[in-house]
Amino acid sequence: MKKVMIIGAGGVGQVVAHKCAQLPQVFSEIVLASRTESKCIAIAKQIKETQNRDISTAQVDADNVPELVALLNIEKPFMVINVALPYQDLTIMDACLEAGVHYMDTANYEPLDTAKFEYHWQWAYQEKFEKAGLMALLGSGFDPGATNMFTAYAAKHYFDEIHYLDIVDVNGGDHGYPFATNFNPEINIREVTAECRHWENGEFVETPAMSTKQAFTCPDGVGDFNIYRMYHEELESLTKNYPTLKRAQFWMSFGESYLKHLEVLQNVGMTGIEPIDFNGQQIVPIQLLKALLPDPSTLGPRTHGKTCIGCVVRGIKDGKEKTVYVYNIKDHQDCYKEVQSQAISYTTGVPAMIGAKLMIEGTWKGAGVFNIEQMDPDPFMENMNKHGLPFQVIEEPGFDLI
Ligand code: NDP
Repeated sequence: MKKVMIIGAGGVGQVVAHKCAQLPQVFSEIVLASRTESKCIAIAKQIKETQNRDISTAQVDADNVPELVALLNIEKPFMVINVALPYQDLTIMDACLEAGVHYMDTANYEPLDTAKFEYHWQWAYQEKFEKAGLMALLGSGFDPGATNMFTAYAAKHYFDEIHYLDIVDVNGGDHGYPFATNFNPEINIREVTAECRHWENGEFVETPAMSTKQAFTCPDGVGDFNIYRMYHEELESLTKNYPTLKRAQFWMSFGESYLKHLEVLQNVGMTGIEPIDFNGQQIVPIQLLKALLPDPSTLGPRTHGKTCIGCVVRGIKDGKEKTVYVYNIKDHQDCYKEVQSQAISYTTGVPAMIGAKLMIEGTWKGAGVFNIEQMDPDPFMENMNKHGLPFQVIEEPGFDLI
């Protein structure tokens, strides 16, 4: 039983807080801290009403290391679950080192001015965390997170060597808006408009954003979707930790309306991350766009349909080629009923709670910086089954992926 501090009270922070509160025998005390404390207080109120459990809240600017260290020194949590934005990863890691607190996140560090999706800034903390005897667990969301674990689980139980990996992220949900993003719009749009990179024969190959698409039929009646190849950060750590991979690709589904709006917004410069001068004021176009779009944490009640996210892994077992598909399907409305949130925040928040649970229980431990696939996938997968994201495995699914 340990005390945990969750940093960030957005869509994902709300789910992490609800899910941790469901397990008082693991998370004995919960502090929800964020830049705007009123959002933490609103979530604490929901938890009190639905679970009759008290969690405490705090205001903190996680960009400010001394301010965060002071809060950590007062609260003395075992670990921080960082579900603020990727821009805060390094300052939160610095504060954890100074206060002697373990660290976990769901997204790699991003500098404000360039969209990179690279791990090297955080990997550079390896020695510091090792020397401090602290653990930093990177990427414990769904993708990255569960997708890394699905790959590790398939590699461990179904293959002698894995050669091809296709991560397929389908969101079959509909929120009824012509254009909205399911998680932080700035991060989402940066990700989708970035050049595509996939791993092939020992190197990353660049292609224009959204230039390769194919059809994909989800199992269990979720439906048929167009999926587009794009870069996603787990490709970097998975190809490092599974050097036998000859090719690794990430695919995501997008609806026609989303793509049409995105194209226009991009063409008129609304997705830019460089500040522009407007009437003597510096404005970052994508931040203005974020202010205009629906807040992802408000999509819960109006989102219907299912997500279907999984990994198609091909490789060799006992000298024979085989293919395995490991996946999860989640219904948006089921998530809303349980934690008042849609499935994108839910599918991120549950693996974040599970990563923290395994660290608190001592099932996963180590000193240094670890990507999640460096941990044993079995306890993670067991917890997915128990805490709302059951997984399925299909051997020889018969997909005809390019
Ligand atoms: P939101 O924008 O909804 O929430 C972010 C929260 O962080 C807000 O409460 C915000 O505060 C807070 N915050 C921002 N800056 C600071 C700061 N300097 N100090 C303290 N708090 C701060 O984002 P999401 O909940 O959608 O996403 C959270 C994280 O989860 C992101 O890093 C995202 O990339 C990641 N993610 C990972 C996924 C995965 O599968 N691995 C999938 C989806 C998201 P305020 O309210 O004041 O703005």
